[in-house]
Amino acid sequence: MTKDCKFSDLEPTGIKCTVCKKGTLDPVRGRFGPIYKCTRKGCGFYVETCPTGKKCQFLRDEKKCGALMVKGTKTIPNRCSDKTCPNRSPHKLVKQK
Ligand SMILES: [Zn+2]
Ligand SMILES: [Zn+2]
Repeated sequence: MTKDCKFSDLEPTGIKCTVCKKGTLDPVRGRFGPIYKCTRKGCGFYVETCPTGKKCQFLRDEKKCGALMVKGTKTIPNRCSDKTCPNRSPHKLVKQK
């Protein structure tokens, strides 16, 4: 189970940034609700949805994607934060195995 995101109190997630690997993803208020932004100055990485702390295991060219997974919605399961990853739309993927 993934822990629920508390949008109201904007609690730090403590989840490590996968880009700089130094900052953590903290919620900040964005235009359309909270986004989860790397705390490290100059990194600029963020995800628009609550990260689950898990990494995408989707194989792309024999390599694991490794991007952060974010929480899905009622109709979409947890998915990859990388917009170029096919696992961004897991509900459209044909289940493998
Ligand atoms: Zn970062
Ligand atoms: Zn991915």
